[in-house]
Amino acid sequence: MLNIGCHLSASKGYLHMGEEAKSIGANTFQFFTRNPRGGKAKDIDENDVKAFLEFMKDNNFSQILAHAPYTLNACSAKPETREFALNTMKDDLMRMEYTPHQLYNFHPGSHVGQGAEVGIDLIIKQLNAVLWEDMTTTVLLETMAGKGSEIGRSFEELKTIIDGVKLQEKMGVCLDTCHVYDAGYDIVNNLDGVLEDFDRIIGLDRLKAIHVNDSKNPFESHKDRHEKIGEGSIGFQTMVNIINHPRLQGIPFLLETPNEIDGYANEIKMLRDAYKG
Ligand code: FE
Ligand code: FE
Ligand code: ZN
Repeated sequence: MLNIGCHLSASKGYLHMGEEAKSIGANTFQFFTRNPRGGKAKDIDENDVKAFLEFMKDNNFSQILAHAPYTLNACSAKPETREFALNTMKDDLMRMEYTPHQLYNFHPGSHVGQGAEVGIDLIIKQLNAVLWEDMTTTVLLETMAGKGSEIGRSFEELKTIIDGVKLQEKMGVCLDTCHVYDAGYDIVNNLDGVLEDFDRIIGLDRLKAIHVNDSKNPFESHKDRHEKIGEGSIGFQTMVNIINHPRLQGIPFLLETPNEIDGYANEIKMLRDAYKG
């Protein structure tokens, strides 16, 4: 069973996202918890959530992925930016409990010259301040391209963060194919080797979602610009290898390619057709 979907607008609510996903052949999706630049989240409509949870069951949806706003930087040098990150994540995670047992992904952050070690410590502090024992959401650290002072450019950095978190069972990783390729993990020529590294350093049991994106830039460019599937430096065959990899079965694959809805429908069809499971 291939669990595949794409990024959708959350502006019309949960049920609308579910129906839109279904209409393009998806059985999962990703959405921003609020405007990607931050700001206040829309109030949760409990009837919409209830209808959506039914819809998910009836249509065999896999876990869905909520994405934190890009402005969230838990390891900023500015205390007010860190406080915004803390409050936003706290609020997001409370809201996530309306849809229990789903996934919440965030960019670890940029240390802005303070050094990776200081950055990692600040991220750990934030996670220890916002996670709680009875929460049902799994919080994912996204693998990053290593643009500027981004934390999360290596599996080791993500592992160090997870090691510092007290409620480790709440933590997982979302692997972004464009980001890891730009970061210098050669998924084109050595996918098995990259996954073995991931397993040895972090553990593949922590890999809870994959962002399926091609890259506009060459290997190890540290750029982070997504390309349509098959039109970038990674290429279609590697995407086919990824969705069919025996160690990656069952987890949700999410497209964040530069597309409107028909483009997504087309990429989902291409990948479903190439799925051998
Ligand atoms: Fe992301
Ligand atoms: Fe991503
Ligand atoms: Zn990206």
